[in-house]
Amino acid sequence: MRPERRRFDALVIGAGGGGLRAALQLANAEATVAVVSKVFPTRSHTVAAQGGVNASLANVLPDNWHWHMFDTIKGSDYLGDQDAIEYMCRAAPKAVYELEHFGVPFSRLENGRIYQRAFGGQSQHFGGEQAARTCAAADRTGHAILHSLYQQNIRARTHFFDEHFALDLLRDESGRVLGALVFDIATGESVVIEAKVTLLATGGAAQVYRTNTNALINTGDGMAMALRAGVPLQDMEFVQFHPTGIAGKGMLITEGVRGEGGYLVNGEGERFMERYAPNARDLASRDVVSRAIVTEIREGRGCGPRRDHVLLKLDHLGEALINRRLPAIRETARTFVNADPVRDPIPVFPTAHYTMGGIPTNRHGQVVAPTADAPEEPVEGLYAVGECACVSVHGANRLGGNSLLDIVVFGRAAANHMIDYLAEHRYHRPLPEAAVEGPRARLDRWDEARGEASVPELRRELQRTMEEYAGVFREQESLDEGVARVRAIREQLELAAIGDHSRVFNTARVEALELVNLADVALAVVTSAAARRESRGAHSRVDHPDRDDARWLKHSLFSLAEGMDYKPVRIKPLTVDSFPPKERTY
Ligand SMILES: Cc1cc2nc3c(=O)[nH]c(=O)nc-3n(C[C@H](O)[C@H](O)[C@H](O)COP(=O)(O)OP(=O)(O)OC[C@H]3O[C@@H](n4cnc5c(N)ncnc54)[C@H](O)[C@@H]3O)c2cc1C
Repeated sequence: MRPERRRFDALVIGAGGGGLRAALQLANAEATVAVVSKVFPTRSHTVAAQGGVNASLANVLPDNWHWHMFDTIKGSDYLGDQDAIEYMCRAAPKAVYELEHFGVPFSRLENGRIYQRAFGGQSQHFGGEQAARTCAAADRTGHAILHSLYQQNIRARTHFFDEHFALDLLRDESGRVLGALVFDIATGESVVIEAKVTLLATGGAAQVYRTNTNALINTGDGMAMALRAGVPLQDMEFVQFHPTGIAGKGMLITEGVRGEGGYLVNGEGERFMERYAPNARDLASRDVVSRAIVTEIREGRGCGPRRDHVLLKLDHLGEALINRRLPAIRETARTFVNADPVRDPIPVFPTAHYTMGGIPTNRHGQVVAPTADAPEEPVEGLYAVGECACVSVHGANRLGGNSLLDIVVFGRAAANHMIDYLAEHRYHRPLPEAAVEGPRARLDRWDEARGEASVPELRRELQRTMEEYAGVFREQESLDEGVARVRAIREQLELAAIGDHSRVFNTARVEALELVNLADVALAVVTSAAARRESRGAHSRVDHPDRDDARWLKHSLFSLAEGMDYKPVRIKPLTVDSFPPKERTY
């Protein structure tokens, strides 16, 4: 049966903060917009963001966008593109006020202004005193943002395809993107969505690791779609391990806890961060704190009977403050470790959290891929924003509070560029029938019973492999072994089955398709990590402990067909002088 066909001006794949911010801008410009999401939009992972969104409002301490820009570049270990970072930091205050006007109920100061808390890596005067730049709605900021954006989209009459799974991009012979093939998870029916322009906003991929802070749905689908469409993935070796995941479980305890005055102690009761980051201490950048925790444990100073975690203390903050500023954290700690932070410390260990790499874009959200003539040629009709994209404002290490900012700033910027694109491309282009065949075959493949390998088992094996061979500390031998193992899992997946021919559940199909995507993303991460022989940001090589700007101040590009390639970092900002790389201490 031929799939149903629908036509829209713009297709947005993903209904998290990035996708919804873009869709709203497009819908308000009178474009017809379809948003596809594999879960109900307000269950997208943005809902889980806790601590807040960065903007130099200076409501609590002096601040300005230029300091924010410096901190972001330093935090990125100088791998971030400085034009995009300048753009984001300058746009931040306006983006936050816009959210406020969309209805986000930010916490307030006594004087009625938006409340701001301190987060890691924030400073005044280019590396001086701690700044307080993170605008928060208690510890449920992402929830507030996502619901407000969803309600605004309903008002703007955005068309939602809820619980529809996007399989692949549809392209003509020239490579121009003309929409996507999706399938309805409830009925199993596939739908061709034709669009003049398509935006990928499918979120991150921390599910490649066993212990992570992400929802089960964060499987890097958009990244894998881009790879299959011949677009390389950028900087995939840089995966952020958040220092304070609940030990053994992975759920996030926001950096906002340390921003409010919480601190870490080891098994000897020592505030060990003083040794690793004498100035910023517990509010050093996330890569620094994660490495410090793992080092303490490796050197025998962990807590608990197995000395396998450290403790996060916040009992001294008092019940009133915890209830007012960190209510969800109290609830999480009580539920998952039976610890009430008003009295008890929380056992924590670094956990996979955020994908700094992704689909390469310029600051207009256009997906760019290298050609023989240029390192950054836009792919016609394709844009990407949010955690699936790499614009790159986070470089080798993201600062807390900068991702919610990234999704709203670049969601808006990409949509504005798409609106101009639509003005120049007013008609739908013919979609060749052959363009649908490949993606259809990828879906139908799971109706055949092929072999013994089981999808859930392979997923667990993939996650364990990544944790063991590409974790916080890395070295050549184990990374090479990781590459071999991930390749072997991909081969086994070719032979996996999800049921007998007569009885295949759509949810099992989704899990299988997600695992195919996860495996491609895992290969990108471990191959890129094995290739980068230096330590930078979140990529910490025991065998190459120093940063090597002479050889490695460049973005990596991984593609399925051609392996590794590289392109220069955009060092030149838009209007100010660039910040040249220097030693990074906190
Ligand atoms: C626990 C936690 C706390 C965080 N706290 C903060 C914070 O305080 N501040 C901050 O700045 N950042 C924070 N982050 C990071 C930030 O929340 C995310 O990076 C950001 O929200 C990602 O938004 P997004 O729009 O890119 O993707 P998401 O919100 O993840 O949305 C992805 C969307 O894509 C859809 N999708 C994916 N694949 C498919 C497919 N194949 N077909 C159809 N739809 C698909 C999903 O259904 C979903 O709608 C936190 C992250 C976590 C995990």
